[in-house]
Amino acid sequence: MVKHEVFRSLSTSDFRQKLLAWYKTYRRELPWRANCDPYHIWISEIMLQQTRVAAVIEHYHEFFRRFPTVEKLARARESSVLAAWSGLGYYRRARMLHAAAKTIVRQRGGALPDRAEEWLDLPGIGRYTAAAIASIAFDEPVAVVDGNVERVLQRVSGKTLTREQLWNAAQHLLDVEHSGDFNQAMMELGATVCTPRAPACLTCPIVDLCATRGETETNKSIPQKKREIRYSLACRDDHGRGREVFLVRRPRNASLMAGMWELPEILSQNGTVKPSFTVRHSITVTDYTVRVWQNGSAADANGSWFATRKLKTIALTGLARKILRKAGVL
Ligand code: SF4
Repeated sequence: MVKHEVFRSLSTSDFRQKLLAWYKTYRRELPWRANCDPYHIWISEIMLQQTRVAAVIEHYHEFFRRFPTVEKLARARESSVLAAWSGLGYYRRARMLHAAAKTIVRQRGGALPDRAEEWLDLPGIGRYTAAAIASIAFDEPVAVVDGNVERVLQRVSGKTLTREQLWNAAQHLLDVEHSGDFNQAMMELGATVCTPRAPACLTCPIVDLCATRGETETNKSIPQKKREIRYSLACRDDHGRGREVFLVRRPRNASLMAGMWELPEILSQNGTVKPSFTVRHSITVTDYTVRVWQNGSAADANGSWFATRKLKTIALTGLARKILRKAGVL
């Protein structure tokens, strides 16, 4: 047993063996686990940042249908990449992904890096993502620390670890013969068993190696803010070819979802007129109650009419997509 400042009496071989055996049996079958192709791993890792697995699954296959290779992605227009990203949120990731694809094609002839250190040189790639891609696609023996791994490490050790201690502890535990699977197993444990609010310690494969067994709470939940927002939905006949919908473009310098299309917001509304329907939408720490008035105004200088059959090719915000689906327009 190799002692470590964080895990004084923990058997690393026992830990690795139990975790990997559990992962082999209980891991979720997810599309990006079907192969170790670095292009697929890279895209999935970027999509999964701060986004629910279910939302990523919805977009994953369509993204590869549109951009099957890094060359195709590099050659695409930014608006096409944003359109494929629509619904995943955090659009800066899509822009950085696009920039990285261009760099890979221009500087490396389309060959993806095989080491974490090289990935770090690309736009939008941080320490976690570089290590995740290099370990999962190339089995490079580098550990990862994301929110799930951090929670597992804090609970298993029973200590409040600093960022550097977390990376160091993860590297100490890593099974260097199976780094890709080990890293995925740590993240999977955090996502499905050692969850933030109610860890399922009774079903945890490493319960007898854990210092806390869920006794300490390492993640304090952040209170959600509430906001109401109102939109106008205007549709018209497209000269007998279908329907058109009126959308406005967010400013190019907006801090969120710059340049994407959405419904016109209503800033003042006669309180006696009831909305056509309401949807709920959450973005980070804000829960929105979204009220929509149909047959609304189409008077906005930044707006345009779009044929509904073409909406799939436009960079719509996730909320606009949700409203258009609810209204039966999309
Ligand atoms: S025993 Fe409980 S707290 Fe410890 S790692 Fe497993 S699920 Fe998390």
